Amino acid sequence: MKRLAMAGKTDTGKKRSRNEDAIAWDLDRGYAILADGMGGHNSGDLASAIAVQTLKESLDGGRGKARISDRLRLAVKEANSRIRECAGERPELSGMGTTVVVARFDKNGMTVAHVGDSRIYRFRKGKLEQLTVDHSLVQELVKGGFMTPEEARVSQNRNIITRALGSEPEVEVDVQYWRLRAGDMLLLCSDGLSDLVEDTAIQNILQQSPDLDSAADSLVHAANEQGGTDNISVILVGLH
Ligand code: MG
Repeated sequence: MKRLAMAGKTDTGKKRSRNEDAIAWDLDRGYAILADGMGGHNSGDLASAIAVQTLKESLDGGRGKARISDRLRLAVKEANSRIRECAGERPELSGMGTTVVVARFDKNGMTVAHVGDSRIYRFRKGKLEQLTVDHSLVQELVKGGFMTPEEARVSQNRNIITRALGSEPEVEVDVQYWRLRAGDMLLLCSDGLSDLVEDTAIQNILQQSPDLDSAADSLVHAANEQGGTDNISVILVGLH
């Protein structure tokens, strides 16, 4: 494996009373997980916690024979089942759900699985590129040619997601492998960052920050400066 460094930060923001995002990472095992929960009666933080916990269990477990892409897909589906089970047992939790994005690193690159609009970006040679495609209404409209990416950014419907854990008995998980190079940096984030801070601003912060910790702090700070209307979470992974 290339040498990894990681830093993460999650913040309630300025408008919400609770933080329903959840993050986890493990430098030795080489993974990072981020989930953005939603639901009434404080159930959003339970949903995101279940998603992170289920993925951790799978990634912390023995190596097993399953390919990592299959393992991630299965674990995300298992998280979906657990969230639905939990919601089924307690009516006040019904409707809870969460996004999830997980990256697992190996010596050549990373396997990424995601559901919803939490994202992973790659920062390479000063350029920021979004690798995941949001499962959101505006993304569907952009894909269909009915909306430009600029219109999508400011649309009132930009937070409507078309896929989440907890909403259906079966969930389709996007899994992809990306080759990486020394010098690459990865950013996992919730929409509390990507909705409020433009890609060029994110790029500038990554370019100018002396280390991952201060970059994570600056990203959260930038989202709060823009109003902090949602919970803000980031995980940064550097490859040396
Ligand atoms: Mg959010």
